[in-house]
Amino acid sequence: MDTLYLQFLNEMQNKGSLKYYRNYPLSLVSTIGTGGRADFYVTPYDLQTLIAAVNEAEKHGKYIVIGNASNLIFDDRGFYGTVLSTVKIRALGVIRQPRNEEEKVLFSRVEAEEFFYATCGTWLPSLSLAALNLGYSGFEGLCSIPATVGGAVCSNAGAFGCEISDNLVALQIYRPTLKKTEMIFRNSMLFSYRKSSVGKCGEIVLCAYFAVKKGSKTEIREKIEQNKRKRTESQPMGVKSAGSYFKKPAPSEGKICYRGKSAGELIDLCGMKGYKVGGAQVSGKHGNFIINATGLCRTADIKALARSVKRKVYAKCGIKLKEEVEYIPYSGKKSGKRKAKE
Ligand SMILES: Cc1cc2nc3c(=O)[nH]c(=O)nc-3n(C[C@H](O)[C@H](O)[C@H](O)COP(=O)(O)OP(=O)(O)OC[C@H]3O[C@@H](n4cnc5c(N)ncnc54)[C@H](O)[C@@H]3O)c2cc1C
Repeated sequence: MDTLYLQFLNEMQNKGSLKYYRNYPLSLVSTIGTGGRADFYVTPYDLQTLIAAVNEAEKHGKYIVIGNASNLIFDDRGFYGTVLSTVKIRALGVIRQPRNEEEKVLFSRVEAEEFFYATCGTWLPSLSLAALNLGYSGFEGLCSIPATVGGAVCSNAGAFGCEISDNLVALQIYRPTLKKTEMIFRNSMLFSYRKSSVGKCGEIVLCAYFAVKKGSKTEIREKIEQNKRKRTESQPMGVKSAGSYFKKPAPSEGKICYRGKSAGELIDLCGMKGYKVGGAQVSGKHGNFIINATGLCRTADIKALARSVKRKVYAKCGIKLKEEVEYIPYSGKKSGKRKAKE
């Protein structure tokens, strides 16, 4: 099995369709900079190769499809299988005519003259910038989220009153179990705060299609600048993190005097800013950011720190914080990872 898999990877690499690494440190992949090694780390350069690589990886063992790993915490033992990253599959643009059968379905189902589209590995800041250049509004809040379109759709990423699902009309996906691509539409997807139904049954996001709203370029640019300023003022910059660590608690949860507060505010009220476990630290600038303070931190430190934070917040405020980040276990079994195959 290994020989056939390696033969496939070597052939595709020689053709210039992907790059692969064996025994690759996931600490170099995740934005928080922790995690052990993956047996295989594969970066396909196009959608066809991604599909082929998923099919081969599935025969070989477990696999997971990721974007920029900006919301992922890998186990210190690594990942026993193949990690496929879409970060090299970047393309975006405007279509006014269908380019394939699936896009014909899109044009027939959704009434619009044009669609803004982006492949799964497209960088959100690039999407936001392209929208600005085209004069499309509604993408301003995505300007400084260090994520891919695929990852963002799977967690309904957003900021400053804007979410990726706001303008989304359809997705081209690949279903590995059926070995087929298909177009799915907005009305068959569920989105709420940092939650999405997409990707939960093993489907892989290939391409996203957005409806466009024309706006004033000056206003769009101003909003982008404003959002960037707000982020720089309130969040730790230039340090390794996975963004907001905990979700915003439900407004009805906890002791009355703490209701409606953000996770960051609650952590701050518990006096935990700057609190450390090993190399992991609650940022002094924003309570909801756990940072890899030394650069050499382990996932075990991060998880231990997160447990302490949760305990303190529950004891003081009666609120059970829930992770916004996603843990990827070594075995691929425990988290119910839908793309981590046995
Ligand atoms: C500094 C910093 C700031 C951040 N700020 C914000 C913010 O303002 N708002 C916000 O919402 N988030 C924020 N985040 C968190 C993170 O960027 C988002 O959760 C983002 O959506 C993750 O995208 P990704 O490409 O990194 O996906 P990953 O973290 O790689 O993956 C996330 C999930 O999506 C799945 N996935 C990825 N690509 C695909 C695909 N093509 N098909 C199927 N499944 C896929 C993965 O398997 C995984 O389950 C921040 C993170 C950092 C480090």
